[in-house]
Amino acid sequence: MAEFTDGTFEEALRRVTRAAERYGRRDGVTLQPDEAVRNYVLRGLARNLIQHGKPYCPCREVTGDADQDRANICPCRTHRDEIATFGACECGLYVAESENTVDQE
Ligand code: SF4
Repeated sequence: MAEFTDGTFEEALRRVTRAAERYGRRDGVTLQPDEAVRNYVLRGLARNLIQHGKPYCPCREVTGDADQDRANICPCRTHRDEIATFGACECGLYVAESENTVDQE
């Protein structure tokens, strides 16, 4: 990550991490308990925040179509359905509560 040596990346990472934690607390959504997975997704969100100005989902392409891209600003429009159906959002940043419980034991 040589292009982010001025602290920009760390600041962006702090912002997206705070936002994800706040969202989890406020809306009762469980953050991914696996630190490696969680950090990987958060770093992707930070990169998109810097490169595109919004924390677009790092698992999806930023298309340039405003409506489509807006739907993929984290937390995206589909994450609750994905959690209910698959146990996690597409990137795995948010998971169903039972997955969290298993990992914490
Ligand atoms: S799939 Fe997960 S990480 Fe990606 S935008 Fe949706 S909620 Fe965020």
